[in-house]
Amino acid sequence: MSATSESSDEGNDPDNPDVRRLADWPPERLESLAEEHGTPLYVIDLGRVRENYQRFASAFPNADVHFAAKANTSRAVLRTLEAEGSSVECASAGETERAFAAGFEGEHVHYTAVNPPAEDLDRAVELADEHPGLTITVGAEDTIDRLAERGYDGRLCLRVNPGVGAGHHEKVRTGADAKFGVPYDSAAELLETAADEFAVVGIHAHAGSGISGDDLSNHRELVSRMCKLARDIDLSLEFVDVGGGFGVPYHPDESPLDLDSVAEATREALGDLDATLVVEPGRYLVADAGVLLTRVNTVKETAEITVLGVDAGMTTLARPALYDAYHHVRNLAGDAPEIETTIAGPICESSDTFGEHTIANPDRDDVLAIGNAGAYGYEMASQYNSRPRPAVVVVDGDRSAVVNRRETLGDVTATEAEVVWQ
Ligand code: PLP
Repeated sequence: MSATSESSDEGNDPDNPDVRRLADWPPERLESLAEEHGTPLYVIDLGRVRENYQRFASAFPNADVHFAAKANTSRAVLRTLEAEGSSVECASAGETERAFAAGFEGEHVHYTAVNPPAEDLDRAVELADEHPGLTITVGAEDTIDRLAERGYDGRLCLRVNPGVGAGHHEKVRTGADAKFGVPYDSAAELLETAADEFAVVGIHAHAGSGISGDDLSNHRELVSRMCKLARDIDLSLEFVDVGGGFGVPYHPDESPLDLDSVAEATREALGDLDATLVVEPGRYLVADAGVLLTRVNTVKETAEITVLGVDAGMTTLARPALYDAYHHVRNLAGDAPEIETTIAGPICESSDTFGEHTIANPDRDDVLAIGNAGAYGYEMASQYNSRPRPAVVVVDGDRSAVVNRRETLGDVTATEAEVVWQ
């Protein structure tokens, strides 16, 4: 899907701009996809996923890039990134299975176990047998013991709590949250003990989701702490993984991340480390490759503001309700005049809102496009209020294909059984 002439970012490589704004999506194409497939509808542009990967990988030429699959586990997206040469970071046995189903080889798959249920560890150990090269990353001594109990002695990486958190919202600042990783001060001893039983190959940390150009101090601090740890231990590591969190501009006034500055800051903080740097971008690779299309069903004038009722809600795109996240919205049909609106979904919760937006001349049945919906969009969709999940269409140049059909009410009740007391 190519950019329109409204494209708003100058100073970029015109063939691979740093950001695709909502204004850059061709409105007629989006309108016709909404007409053909109904709404709410996620549209993911695989061409843009490729561009994002290529731009990111060239900024970090000596690093291994592991896509954080939690941002978008669509098989079409995973296959696209695998073909580009990406590796993948998976947050559960389910994501790990999906990575293998998409064609990743064992040595390109990292499973990061966060308080893993027994079934996840059982399956991860089986998958490591089936796909040699799989790395399991653990964030607690208990998890190491539980792997040993299962006879696992393969590739192990230790997730360390770096004590440095960063992010756009307190709920995404993982780096300083005790839930994630072993305490920094106990990591060295744990690594050296684990090396007696496992192939200890790396260390891992993730500050959270919010590396922005404004302040790279947290990122520098995390990288240098991890490098210090790698130097302090008496082990030769294959890699040091400094996590993801590379920010994207959700607001049209925000500038895109200056990747070269981030890469330079990372290199400086790395020093003369004798191990491969690993980075784990999630949203950077997929956010601006996706939009969510939703249809206006209600236009309600009130004394304060015009309320636009739409058919997507917090069950379709959870980030605004979960993190107060801003997603820009555009009326594909609208021309001036612009009016102040609040956009709200069909879920019976006051948090079911996409916030306040200036929208061009909205009318019932207009299709709105919600930007930067390619990351943590469909992944977080739920069936709350008995709402079937939306459909997902991928586009690649002129082609388009449904990769997730729209759920039906039958899907919503599919796991339910009638109670029949004997
Ligand atoms: N790596 C880890 C361990 C994560 O938990 C996450 C996100 O939660 C990421 C990478 C990707 O973060 P982002 O999508 O902000 O790049």
